[in-house]
Amino acid sequence: MRAMSDVQRAALTAAVEQLAWTVVREVLELGPEDGPHSDLPDADLRQMWLTALTSLLAIRDSAEQLAASAALSAAQRGADYPAIGHAAGMTRQGARRKWPGLAGLSDERQRKLAWWDRRGSQFADCVRAVLAEAGRNGESPRLAALRERLEEIERAPAVERIDAFDMFLIDAHAISVETTAERAGGLLAALVADAYAATTSHSALVSHENRTCTADGCGERPIVEVWRTDTESQATPVCREHAIEALGRPATRIVAAHEPDVALKVFAEANGEA
Ligand SMILES: [Zn+2]
Repeated sequence: MRAMSDVQRAALTAAVEQLAWTVVREVLELGPEDGPHSDLPDADLRQMWLTALTSLLAIRDSAEQLAASAALSAAQRGADYPAIGHAAGMTRQGARRKWPGLAGLSDERQRKLAWWDRRGSQFADCVRAVLAEAGRNGESPRLAALRERLEEIERAPAVERIDAFDMFLIDAHAISVETTAERAGGLLAALVADAYAATTSHSALVSHENRTCTADGCGERPIVEVWRTDTESQATPVCREHAIEALGRPATRIVAAHEPDVALKVFAEANGEA
């Protein structure tokens, strides 16, 4: 990364000073030529310099916020803590203390982009199908929110799409379990389950490794979790065969996948589409 030269730093200081005095003139309702001229009474000058002090510190606070946002954006695009620390003129530990939680963001972002590239249009179609079917019985606030998210994510350029992605999944999941649209709701639930499995880190998935299918006497390795949305019971981990069996019952959704891309496959098999 290139360092700033002394000349560039001096120009930056001058620009900040100019910005501060623009704020002072606005706050004190002064004319464009007004400033700290020495022929002014002390009381006026004192007021100007105090307002300049306030505005310079407000600029510093804004710069801090913008710096945090820049660190986040850099991390999402592959910058690690040594690079962020170097750019910020601090050690990597210092950068980690100041802006925690930035490690691994690039990988997660890439996984989300890749998933959306593969499944985004199917996902959007499925959301539209659920919206069309559910909309006939009047629209709940959550459904309205999902509709807004869909429009937002379709309008957004690819890089910003990822920022809307998480909220879109949360809303889609909620709708998929509450909608009475059986097929579209089931498909949406499976897509959300696959999206989480494909985009969360591997370590979040391996915690399932020691579990077995909860069907009586099965003992196979579970690959998805299913949930009867019309009962109070919890989601249960099941193997492929018992997932297909469970999905034959009404109001049953796949709510989690233990590995990428299995939920959609199981859903298709259960619906005789595979
Ligand atoms: Zn089983």
